[in-house]
Amino acid sequence: MKTTGFDVVGVGVGPFNLSLAALLCPIHDVRSRFFERAGSFEWHPGMMLAGSCMQTSFLKDLVTPADPTSRFSFLAYLVERGQFYRFLNAEYPRVLRVEFASYLRWVAEQLPNLRFGCEVREVAVRNGQLVVRLDNTREWLPASNLVIGAGLHPHVPPGLEAFLGRECFHSSSYLHSQLSVEKRRVAIVGGGQSSAEICLDLLSGRLGQAASIDWITRRSNLSPLDETAFTNELFTPDYVRSFHRLPEERRRQLVPQQKLAGDGISPLTLSQISQRLYELECVEQRGPVCRILPEREVRGMRRERAELRLFAHNAFTGQTEALDADVVILATGYRYRLPECLSPIAERMPRDAEGNPRLREDFSVIWDGAPEQRIYMQNAGRCSHGIADAQLSLAAWRSAVICNAIVGRQVYPVDAQGAPIYWHSERPPTSDRANPAAPLAAQALVL
Ligand SMILES: Cc1cc2nc3c(=O)[nH]c(=O)nc-3n(C[C@H](O)[C@H](O)[C@H](O)COP(=O)(O)OP(=O)(O)OC[C@H]3O[C@@H](n4cnc5c(N)ncnc54)[C@H](O)[C@@H]3O)c2cc1C
Repeated sequence: MKTTGFDVVGVGVGPFNLSLAALLCPIHDVRSRFFERAGSFEWHPGMMLAGSCMQTSFLKDLVTPADPTSRFSFLAYLVERGQFYRFLNAEYPRVLRVEFASYLRWVAEQLPNLRFGCEVREVAVRNGQLVVRLDNTREWLPASNLVIGAGLHPHVPPGLEAFLGRECFHSSSYLHSQLSVEKRRVAIVGGGQSSAEICLDLLSGRLGQAASIDWITRRSNLSPLDETAFTNELFTPDYVRSFHRLPEERRRQLVPQQKLAGDGISPLTLSQISQRLYELECVEQRGPVCRILPEREVRGMRRERAELRLFAHNAFTGQTEALDADVVILATGYRYRLPECLSPIAERMPRDAEGNPRLREDFSVIWDGAPEQRIYMQNAGRCSHGIADAQLSLAAWRSAVICNAIVGRQVYPVDAQGAPIYWHSERPPTSDRANPAAPLAAQALVL
């Protein structure tokens, strides 16, 4: 064990590195420290809308799938706050996002290995050692392992960046925008969950009565998140391992095909919007309140005096349409970008066809550093590990995989559990399962 530096340094404390920090906490011979630039734990504060629900079960919290006995579980949070029975009796189909954020903050407040208000500015190799430099120091901190959990970046469609400001902003800053929509024409761009929640919020009248709402999406309709049983198999360790074994090109083909498994609108939100529109337009007879405009791709924007004019290609009719708005909200998603702090070593990482670092099965980056200098990445493996990578569903499992790789032994169970779908003719290898499944080929012979 070294006397200076840490065995594990984490960059960023969002839910993913928070999960790893929680799983590392009981392992006393591993010294870890996670640095977060924000002054305290925050989870998507610009989208913490009252009434919004999680898209994942509370059992897929930071730790339970890896260690159901952990004191950092969602159930432990409920018990400690004395609200276990009330939570059950309230019978939420999904936990409120505000409550899950409160749970995450509760975990963050208990962990001794987190430091807030510290940005990691640079990662480098000095004298053969991985080191990081923080914003508040000139010193380099040695790290045997680095885990990047810096999150994704708000995506602004090309050509619209120049319009960003008070009247045109990304959904990630929706609640910070001090917005009033009273008698204003609002355009929402995007067809995922954020756009739906913003539409519902505008329809509530909380920010005033909009003169009109245009909800523009290039998707063919407002499509539901597919949460059915066999689609949910994509969010299992078995699938992630099977996916990682595929050639890169095949993986790249599969990701867009699986869009609605991870990036659709919750059926509950769709019903709420439909009902609210019925109330406003049919019961209260207010006339058209909101136009839903599918098949439209925004291809440009122009400022016309005080208003913004959007130009959209309508794939349904093949025509270009112009739409005027006073406020444009871009619910256009998030993208991976290599964190700035990795610039000093960025050239040493081979990239895939989309420019992402290549990740091994255990989420470590392939780079030309010494084999013992390991850099792990959370939320950077959409093309290497599949669509579950950006979701909470497998966060605890992935943290367990990284944790085991760092300590060099199986502290947490990570083996495939056996799935009903055989993506390959054989299941991914398991180590010590009591009842490993026979390869499909062998079963076929018996049949
Ligand atoms: C509104 C919203 C709701 C979502 N709801 C769900 C859901 O219900 N279920 C689900 O499965 N998924 C959900 N997701 C997707 C996913 O779970 C979240 O995006 C999640 O926050 C990703 O976690 P993360 O740790 O990768 O990144 P983030 O939460 O973005 O955290 C990254 C952190 O790293 C910090 N950071 C970055 N660079 C540095 C640096 N150099 N030094 C120090 N700190 C740094 C940032 O300040 C940030 O706090 C949701 C996403 C959004 C946008």
